[in-house]
Amino acid sequence: MPAAKFEIVRKCKVCGELFKAKTIESWYCSPRCSKIAWKRNKDEELRMQKLDEVVKKIPKSKDYITVPEAYALFGISKETLCS
Ligand SMILES: [Zn+2]
Repeated sequence: MPAAKFEIVRKCKVCGELFKAKTIESWYCSPRCSKIAWKRNKDEELRMQKLDEVVKKIPKSKDYITVPEAYALFGISKETLCS
């Protein structure tokens, strides 16, 4: 594989450090950070599962929803707002 003719400088999604991405798929500066990101993804999955349960419990006839229910329904998170 020939070396890329351009450099992709990215900000690590975990620690915020700038680093040179070796491939288009590189999102983290180090294996350590990708591990942390992987763990965060797992946590996120669990969180989504919990939100799903909240959504299932919301009665369809309800006129209003609570904040946690709205959060579960629309899945608004800090990450969504930032990306
Ligand atoms: Zn990093």
